[in-house]
Amino acid sequence: MSEKMKAVAIVEKKKVELINLTKPMPKSNQVLIKIKACALCTHEQRVYLGISKMPLPFIGGHEIAGKIVQIGRDVDTQKYKIGSKVAVRILYKCGSCYYCRHGKENLCVETNTLLVNEQGISGIGGLSEYVVVDTSQIWVLPDDISLEKATLAEPVACVVNSFEKGNPGLGDDVVIIGGGIMGMLHLLCAKLRGTRVIMLEPVQERRKLAHELGCDITIDPMHTDPIRAVRNLTDGRGAEVVFNTTPISAVAEQAVQLTGSMGRCIMFSSQHPDKPINISPNWLHYSETVITGAVSPSVRSFDASVNLLTKNLINPEKLISGVFDYTEAGKAFEEAIKPDTFRIIVKFD
Ligand SMILES: [Zn+2]
Ligand SMILES: [Zn+2]
Repeated sequence: MSEKMKAVAIVEKKKVELINLTKPMPKSNQVLIKIKACALCTHEQRVYLGISKMPLPFIGGHEIAGKIVQIGRDVDTQKYKIGSKVAVRILYKCGSCYYCRHGKENLCVETNTLLVNEQGISGIGGLSEYVVVDTSQIWVLPDDISLEKATLAEPVACVVNSFEKGNPGLGDDVVIIGGGIMGMLHLLCAKLRGTRVIMLEPVQERRKLAHELGCDITIDPMHTDPIRAVRNLTDGRGAEVVFNTTPISAVAEQAVQLTGSMGRCIMFSSQHPDKPINISPNWLHYSETVITGAVSPSVRSFDASVNLLTKNLINPEKLISGVFDYTEAGKAFEEAIKPDTFRIIVKFD
């Protein structure tokens, strides 16, 4: 009889249950990770709310950190030791498609391969007690890092990928639209890059936190016309880099208008609903502005993210709004969907 483990499954809209799954076993080149902490990302929240339609039951969880508890027979025991803390890039990569071979594992054609092998259950499976992964998917962490903080390696890695596209330079103006967790993580990285950060965010407490985290200028877009304000700040040009972290298409259109000639406009957030926006091809022709997206982390951006966290170059601890035991996962989801929380973490002990 194979051993069992607990997992948190979304079984219907706004309802989670603990279910038993078969505890996975590591193959020769794999490690078994005891997941200690898993952050609830927007994706899981959207499935919980019934906005993202996934086959149910669904076990999400891709922002995870834990400890190595078992290693396969061919794993280098000098590098990977039982008890070591690790961050996990759980997102699947095939390693051999066009995108993987170009260092863009985040665009892997197999990326949606589901990891939960149990029959009839969908999802990537990080909201479980254990997960089996290849050693290429883990980053061994120093002992003194908290595993709650280490769950943020994945969202920070998404932001690193976004920065590879936006690539702001010293002294540039960076506009960040939205002061949720992803906007705040963009802010922390933008300040490392020596830029002036202008954040558009309607909620006052968030604007206040943004200033505490180093934001230079905040604008309430409900009361001030952001396009006029940003143009006034940039000699009429618009910003060098605009990161749009909000899912609203009208804002996406505004993001483009906030970007100056030669600038880069990054659609970081997915759009719900996905409504097309107006862009003038002539304006693109004359401005040489680049409009692009950023999705998930490549291996390279995950590596940079772990460095940012373990070397204490950014401190995102204020963005952890609560920690719940997995037996209270329902409460954790309810807290996560509140508009005033950043990341909520589910702990497995
Ligand atoms: Zn995420
Ligand atoms: Zn691939």
